[in-house]
Amino acid sequence: MKRVGIVGGGQLARMLAMAGRRLGIRCEVLDPAEQPCAAAVARHLRGAFEDPVALDHLVADCSVATFDFENVAVEPLQHLAQRMPVRPSPRTLAIAQDRLEEKRFIEGLGIPVAAFRPIHSLDDLRSAAEQLGLPCLIKTRRFGYDGKGQWKLNELADCERVWSELQGTPAIAEAWVRYRREVSLIVVRDGLANHRLYPLTENHHVDGILGYSLAPAPASAVMQAEAENLAFRLVDALDYVGVLAIELFEMDGHLMVNEIAPRVHNSGHWTIEGAHCSQFENHLRAVTDLPLGDASARGYSLMLNIIGDWPERERLLSCPGVNVHDYEKSPRPGRKIGHLTVCADSVGELQNRVQALLRAAGREELWAGLVPRMAAMCD
Ligand code: AMP
Repeated sequence: MKRVGIVGGGQLARMLAMAGRRLGIRCEVLDPAEQPCAAAVARHLRGAFEDPVALDHLVADCSVATFDFENVAVEPLQHLAQRMPVRPSPRTLAIAQDRLEEKRFIEGLGIPVAAFRPIHSLDDLRSAAEQLGLPCLIKTRRFGYDGKGQWKLNELADCERVWSELQGTPAIAEAWVRYRREVSLIVVRDGLANHRLYPLTENHHVDGILGYSLAPAPASAVMQAEAENLAFRLVDALDYVGVLAIELFEMDGHLMVNEIAPRVHNSGHWTIEGAHCSQFENHLRAVTDLPLGDASARGYSLMLNIIGDWPERERLLSCPGVNVHDYEKSPRPGRKIGHLTVCADSVGELQNRVQALLRAAGREELWAGLVPRMAAMCD
């Protein structure tokens, strides 16, 4: 039986482990928490990510290691990579966890990104604002997620305040992108350079956190091909193995990369029910050298994140076609604690199911925004 070591034991590791069980792949998660949410379905090694004893256990127990979040130090993974395959590679992780390295890398492949400048001083901040124009966005180079570690700079007079709030943290300035919408592309590549691509997914954020995703995103064949072309260039340049998520902005009918995530991704959760082979299963297949699965969609899907607290469970479960995913995490404002997916064979059926689901979830405020987006899925 194959065993996969996962550094990190959050909901992504949990869903990987659940997908693995069906294939006869066991996952073992390394996480410092007493009861990380993946521990309910995978063997839990309690320890710091850099703990050499815990890493020794992973080497002894597993044939390959992967990770479920980006903010793991690269050095222990490099150390691990000398003793077992680490997929994706620590080099990929190093690029993806530093926004400056990431932007330089992507731009170096000739793929469009927002104009950016490194920030080391208050003077850098002022000249970046002048060169990039206002508003612009200041982002810490590391440890940003769900819109955290970001400041919108509206006027030059804001520079001093933002610089003092940065407290010397390395950062970049980014030109403000007037995008039409946010989409993402999930690609999986195996060790023999075979690829599978999921259809583009359209993502809507609420307060910087992903609120819901629609898939397949309404997109012309030209746009899907543009996304696929840049995805191939990225994964081939990284000699990537596993699932890579690419977050994109659509502007003037073209795509620009916002960031990449070297792991399974929230915008791919719909693939559990909405694609022939989920992103979780395909990631495990790729890292364990099994043939990749079919990434095409089964129909039309909507994935809604549950953030903060659960709506009444019985009402949710009485919605037609709903799939409830509870991460068994304690409720806390702003925390992702689960998600819901509805799938349908036609857009009309999806609309009916989504309307019922939003009512049951107490999220009717999303309906007006969803109506035109679902209608566009027919085009
Ligand atoms: P990020 O942490 O880079 O994914 O950014 C979080 C969110 O901020 C994105 O999902 C966008 O909605 C927004 N955002 C990020 N970068 C830009 C940008 N350069 N211009 C405008 N909005 C942005």
